[in-house]
Amino acid sequence: MIIQLKPTISPKSRANLDFIIAEIGYKSLEVKTQFQNYLVATGTNDFDIRRIGSLKGIKDIHRVTDDYKLVSRKWKLNRTKIYLGDDVYIGGNKLSIMAGPCSIESEEQIENTVAFLLANGIKIMRGGVYKPRSSPYSFRGLGIDGLKLFYKHCRKNGIKIITEVMQVSQIDPMLDYADIFQVGARNAQNFNLLDALGQIDKAVMLKRGISGSINELLQSAEYVFSNGNEKIILCERGIRTFENAYRNTLDLNAIPILKEKSHLPIIVDPSHGIGIRKHVARMALAGVVAGADGVILEVHQTPEKAISDSQQALSFVEAKTLFSQLKKVSDLQF
Ligand code: PEP
Ligand code: MN
Repeated sequence: MIIQLKPTISPKSRANLDFIIAEIGYKSLEVKTQFQNYLVATGTNDFDIRRIGSLKGIKDIHRVTDDYKLVSRKWKLNRTKIYLGDDVYIGGNKLSIMAGPCSIESEEQIENTVAFLLANGIKIMRGGVYKPRSSPYSFRGLGIDGLKLFYKHCRKNGIKIITEVMQVSQIDPMLDYADIFQVGARNAQNFNLLDALGQIDKAVMLKRGISGSINELLQSAEYVFSNGNEKIILCERGIRTFENAYRNTLDLNAIPILKEKSHLPIIVDPSHGIGIRKHVARMALAGVVAGADGVILEVHQTPEKAISDSQQALSFVEAKTLFSQLKKVSDLQF
């Protein structure tokens, strides 16, 4: 059950509410986000919802039977739109495109990519400075200095930054430079990280775990929301299955299902989803047809020379063609 509290609720009404919740045998957690105050109450006993709905200081009350509550669409039918500043949004009617290299490699690479994005009207650049790599001997990113360079070029050109955070201690130093904190597939259930990201006022994009279910992804999102941050984006990036003809199995089914279950925006990542350059464009388009609110793409000035994920990066020419196809597909009404 989600109880939306009025900001003006008096201490007396609040105490009365706690009393009734205890009386019906429910446990509750108060959640204060950047936008609203909620009380999330869980329990199994049957009771008349009007006992709470009619109390003073209550804005609204909703029964939510899902394991996740605040991210569920059962209480919030309207889709969440996340504002990044300077008229850049995720969600709503406009398709969001995030593009850039797997890893930030050099200042020259950042400058070239920014110029390419600007020329194509793309407002969000991706690029990892902390890279989760299967081998400890692979390139692991330029770290905070790389992020500062990334920021320097994006900020002056009005481009927003999405970049991966791998551990709690990185959040604070990254705070002034990242617009969207990406939680990678390998950290999808790093609950300490999710708790900490719930305590900042920046957008967070949660990638589905390598073998993560839809329910687990939504519960991870619930960690962030219940800690106080409503600015959450979900990302389908493929899961591990028995199939090994491609890098991951991009689960396009997850997109309409997630949109039905949650009010949060959903982004599709066809680059990691299939992991094969020549098929990325088709899967990006398919993701949009499936209902994604946006696409995240790995793009590189010289894909064959990319330090990480070179096999799946699109060249600037390929990406440009895809952007115009994406625009056409997103203009269609489904
Ligand atoms: C990435 O975006 O480069 C990345 C490592 O993604 P994922 O966590 O989906 O593997
Ligand atoms: Mn990558």
